[in-house]
Amino acid sequence: MNGKTIESRCGILCGECAYREQMGCAGCVHIQKPFWGEGCPLKDCCEERQLEHCGQCEEFPCDLLNQFAYDERQGDDGKRIEQCKCWREAAL
Ligand code: SF4
Ligand code: SF4
Repeated sequence: MNGKTIESRCGILCGECAYREQMGCAGCVHIQKPFWGEGCPLKDCCEERQLEHCGQCEEFPCDLLNQFAYDERQGDDGKRIEQCKCWREAAL
């Protein structure tokens, strides 16, 4: 894993996620609908804008992304936002 492959819309590294094997999840870039629920607002927003990931967005990092990234229980202290920046820079 070189960290350059786009694995998600929001910057989460799916390769590091336990559910990948447990649930057979291919990662949100490759699936229509996440296994864990109805949908993801970040995935939907990004795909509606026809972006590969949030780092390509004019509004990056928007309030919604910040809210997810710094969520007390499910956030990762902004790590996914940094990952989006890495993907953005890798593409320059
Ligand atoms: S939170 Fe949404 S955008 Fe981020 S990895 Fe999960 S499905 Fe994809
Ligand atoms: S940064 Fe925010 S507004 Fe832009 S695509 Fe991602 S979720 Fe949507």
